[in-house]
Amino acid sequence: MPVGRWTWSAAFLYNSLVDRMAVFTNVLEKARNSGDLTREEIIALLSLDDADDIARLVQAADEVRRECVGDDVHIRGLIEFSNNCAQNCLYCGLRRDNPDVHRYRMTGEEIVETAVGIAGKKIGTIVLQSGEDPWFTAERMAGIIHGIKSRADCAITLSIGERPYEDYRLMKEAGADRYLLRHETASPELYGRLHPDSQFESRRQCLIDLRELCYQVGAGCMVGLPGQTIEDLANDVEFLRRLDPDMIGIGPFIAHPNTPLAESPGGDLTLTLKMIAVVRLVTRNALMPATTAVGTIDEFGIEKALTAGANVVMPNYTPLEYRVYYEIYPNKRCITEDPESCIGRMSAQILSIGRTVAEGPGHSYKRNG
Ligand code: SAH
Repeated sequence: MPVGRWTWSAAFLYNSLVDRMAVFTNVLEKARNSGDLTREEIIALLSLDDADDIARLVQAADEVRRECVGDDVHIRGLIEFSNNCAQNCLYCGLRRDNPDVHRYRMTGEEIVETAVGIAGKKIGTIVLQSGEDPWFTAERMAGIIHGIKSRADCAITLSIGERPYEDYRLMKEAGADRYLLRHETASPELYGRLHPDSQFESRRQCLIDLRELCYQVGAGCMVGLPGQTIEDLANDVEFLRRLDPDMIGIGPFIAHPNTPLAESPGGDLTLTLKMIAVVRLVTRNALMPATTAVGTIDEFGIEKALTAGANVVMPNYTPLEYRVYYEIYPNKRCITEDPESCIGRMSAQILSIGRTVAEGPGHSYKRNG
């Protein structure tokens, strides 16, 4: 090859590298300053594969997290009160067609006692989560919510799936403050493949109903679902930007052996962290948990998520006798650990990365509770 031509192509490569770096620096600057990214820029950030570039993205998200919501990490006490489920989501170990689940249902009294116990430990929010269990009618849930609220000074978050507007209304009137209903994926076609009995549109409508009823609303998605592309994840980011929920849960998909997706590879830690970072940059002041799933795929997953934009942890307070049966995916973190050591370990994790443990209910930074 003539020397002149070689020099020319080396110069060309050098210049395009410099250009690429300049573009990346500009996008990151924009992300840090306003989060007002185009779809192409969101895709570019989610596609980063250089370790230094990813570190810069995560650092920008961490800075925006500090500026917009401070160093506090909020603690939510989780009670998984029933693993009965009428739905058949392809990814979930609790799906109704899994015959190998030992199904349980805590009594109303057990739920109230457990919740009051958690609130007594100065944990300001109780999360009541279950499969979609019709036994827990809105009236029964209202009784439980009322029972907790009359004895404890805490916020109540529900995470019990899709319900009619009237049910949501009754439970809100009984005193529920928040509702977690991940949108799972904002790509309607992918959503349809994973949820044989439901459609994205009905999920979206539930989120709108909840918002109208003045719940603080949580949405979110899984990362690494079979067939999911970067374009799909960009749909999630854009959906979350439009909805602007108070809370956003993002975790990796983990294959459960007794589901149709048993053989699918699980979600990747780095992609999950990039997604948390981009969502933090775009949505600014959402409450974002470091999810149990991210702690399950990586020993330091919780700390890594907390330094990529997250600011909430959810120690598991489900009584140990039931907890092993709430297996939405295998090897769930905290499955045998008693609540006291789980919260102790989480507090140590929070302090070890220079953050503070928040007190009080930890309401939305977007709307007052
Ligand atoms: N029935 C409630 C609660 C579902 S469990 C509801 O419909 O909202 C809470 C979350 O766990 C789900 O929203 C889903 O995003 C996540 N999940 C379920 N199965 C999973 C799996 N195999 N891997 C990772 N996350 C999973």
